Amino acid sequence: MDDSTTGHNKLARHNRRLQALLRKYKQLHQLQNALIQLSEQASTVPELTLLYPAIHHILEQHLPSRSFYVVLQNQFTQALELSYFVDEKDGISVPMHLANQFGEGVTGHVFRLGETVYYTKESMQDAVKDGHFKALGSPAEHWVGVPIYREKTIIGVMVSQSYNPTQSYSDQQIELLEVMSLYLATAIERVKKRELLESEVKIRTRALMQSNEALNSEIDHRKKALERQQILFKIAELATSSEHIEDVYLQVHQIIRSITFAENLYIALYDKESGWLTFPYCVDQKTAASKPREFAKGYSELVISTERVQLIDSHRAKLLIENGIVERAVHVPEENRATSWLGAPLKTSQGVIGLIACQAYDHKYEFDHDDMELISFVSHQIAAVLQTHLANQALKASYQELEHRVLEKTKELRQTNLHLQMQIDERKKIEQQLYHDAHHDSLTGLPNRSLFLTQLERTLQVYQRHPDHHFAVLFIDLDKFKEINDQLGHHAGDQFLISVSQSFADCIREHDLLARLAGDEFVVLLNHLTDKQQAEDVAKRIIRVMQKPFCMKGICVQSGASIGITYSNKRYADTDEIIRDADAAMYYAKNAGRGRFEFYHPLLTAGKNIQRHAEQHHLCDLPTHFRSTEISNLDDSNDGKRAKIRVLEAFGEHPVLGSTSFDILKKFAAEKDEQIEIELKLLQEAQNWSKQFDGNTLFSCSTLLLEEHTFPQLQKHLNASQYKLCLLFNELDVRFASSRQLENLKLLTQSGVAVGINEFAKDRCDLTLVSQLDFKYVLLSSTFSKRVLQQSSYEVQLKGILAVTACKHIQVVAKGPAILNFQTLLEKHGLKLFFGKQQSLQAQNLYDLPDSELLAE
Ligand code: GH3
Ligand code: MG
Repeated sequence: MDDSTTGHNKLARHNRRLQALLRKYKQLHQLQNALIQLSEQASTVPELTLLYPAIHHILEQHLPSRSFYVVLQNQFTQALELSYFVDEKDGISVPMHLANQFGEGVTGHVFRLGETVYYTKESMQDAVKDGHFKALGSPAEHWVGVPIYREKTIIGVMVSQSYNPTQSYSDQQIELLEVMSLYLATAIERVKKRELLESEVKIRTRALMQSNEALNSEIDHRKKALERQQILFKIAELATSSEHIEDVYLQVHQIIRSITFAENLYIALYDKESGWLTFPYCVDQKTAASKPREFAKGYSELVISTERVQLIDSHRAKLLIENGIVERAVHVPEENRATSWLGAPLKTSQGVIGLIACQAYDHKYEFDHDDMELISFVSHQIAAVLQTHLANQALKASYQELEHRVLEKTKELRQTNLHLQMQIDERKKIEQQLYHDAHHDSLTGLPNRSLFLTQLERTLQVYQRHPDHHFAVLFIDLDKFKEINDQLGHHAGDQFLISVSQSFADCIREHDLLARLAGDEFVVLLNHLTDKQQAEDVAKRIIRVMQKPFCMKGICVQSGASIGITYSNKRYADTDEIIRDADAAMYYAKNAGRGRFEFYHPLLTAGKNIQRHAEQHHLCDLPTHFRSTEISNLDDSNDGKRAKIRVLEAFGEHPVLGSTSFDILKKFAAEKDEQIEIELKLLQEAQNWSKQFDGNTLFSCSTLLLEEHTFPQLQKHLNASQYKLCLLFNELDVRFASSRQLENLKLLTQSGVAVGINEFAKDRCDLTLVSQLDFKYVLLSSTFSKRVLQQSSYEVQLKGILAVTACKHIQVVAKGPAILNFQTLLEKHGLKLFFGKQQSLQAQNLYDLPDSELLAE
């Protein structure tokens, strides 16, 4: 061999060696790359399953077999479980009978040994024979098992096996397996750690999420609670905000709409007593409100009878109908049937008063448990509100009913009242009639004694409180009434009484009272008087009226009135005394010749005694004395020359009355004849007395002396006397004197007898008397004198009197209280002659004048 050849061979060998080295280097480089990749993957893979293909890829390239599996111990069961498996014979799936038996086979043996084990087919069989482990699966020609450690704990076994007898495992290859087992262990640890971390994160996240959820649900819960609270407030407000229940229904609907699907809603009310259901509110896209009905077997009835919220879908509806719990109305068409129905009872302390129901058609909405809960929640409040309103409504209705009944009753009552009123009116009329009858005289219709006394009683009481409210009672008795009865009959007498009562009524004022006491007795009560004169005026009017003759059936009769007057006086304590005194005065008027009036005087109360005396003794028998009073003349210039004028008065010593003027005593004359007798007697005595006086002596006498039968006696007396008196006649007597009396008076004057008129113008100023008759003196009444001083209108009358009397040369004498002041006042009016008399005369000292002269017999 040459050197070149040797060199060439060497080179060739060297070259091959280099090439082999290069190949090996390349292989190692690839292996290194693969291991770097594996290392990277081992530290990054999220799960082991992704790492196995990478290991498998390296093994395929660097190991004789493609069969490879990994077994890991389950930490909890301690069993060896297959983690990865690729086998040339068994494929990728482990034979079922081997799955959990690794612990018993050679893999378990390696795990227990904790070391890398290499077996050939034979050595494995020997080991099986030696009982180290069981022969499992297809027997491999070469088998290598490498333990996988985490830190110092064995956690599994990595196995590679070859079924080719020629392909055994070199040390390097076993070493590679051991390196990979390290990587796998790292990867396993990483993955495990990651898994642990992840599971921890997951656990924590879950915990966090859970607490979040709890928080959210708490917030939700609170939100819901708040919303519900607000809804409750809204409903509660309805109790007072709305007046009409229809508004309440509407607003309840709005509220339900805010919490659930409420396009179709109705409210039903249930009356437990009648068992009827009514549907006062209904809004529904398919049907109108149901008509009131008796308790049946509808959904509404189900809610009411169970007293619970009912949620009914198509399925439940079917079941309810099948079980006969609900009966569907036949006429409801399919499309009008609710596909979801929710009803809640309206429960109150008095039980279920109705329900509120919502329904959906055509699956537009499905009510669920939330809706159930909500509607159940609000229904209580709604029930309370509705109950309040219904109670109010019922109250209103019952109030209206009551009002109606009151109205009816009022109408009835009014009717009854009308009836009653009529009865009352009737009764009133009867009562009035009875009262009238009891207080009035049936014949004349005038008030009777009873009514008169009542009225007089009142008047007396008023007077006792107000002494200036004077009154007077006129007691009237008709004169010779019996004669009318006798002549014309009783009936005519009655007619006369009626006619008389009307005439009397014309003589009094409206506020005076005329009454019939009995028979032909009448009384008049005069109120509001200021002067006795007013009572006198009325009496005179009545007397005048009665002077007219009464004619009937062609016959005329003459009656008259005798009147007694009582004037108010403090001494009267009761009405009887007033009537008694008026009656007494009337009696004296009768006695004094009828057709006249007489004021009551206290003297008359002794009437009976006087009467008795008068019956037993003649007035003519009384011891008599005279009193002469000079008439004062204020015209002093002719004093002395001027003849004096005197008034002569006669007094009788009466055993009862004492020294009393015959003007009064004359009235007690039992008969007219006695009166005339005394008149003539006194006249004669007066004539005798007058002889002693110069000048004129005035003496009062009665017009009785002028009467037809008496006048001749008078003439005889006068003619027999040398000294003539001036005869004074009372104006009233002259005025009422008969024509015969007047003629006789004229005869007297014509025969030269001086005549004067006394008490002139007491009630009225009649100048005709003065002008027709030839009086020598006119003695004005004290009433007139007083009136002249009080009222200017009387001044005119005085002027008239003075003018007429001046023409006829009549002397005018004023009368009044014997006080200078009074005389001076009258003098201003042209009056010069005064005859003074004290006004208040006491019964015991009549005419007891200071300047008068008592003339003894
Ligand atoms: P004198 O002038 O004294 O009063 O007498 P006189 O006729 O009026 O009688 P006197 O007053 O004493 O009696 C009244 C009479 O009136 C008595 C009675 O017969 C009569 N008389 C009473 N009441 C009625 C009556 O109602 N109708 C009628 N026609 N006469 C009656
Ligand atoms: Mg009479």
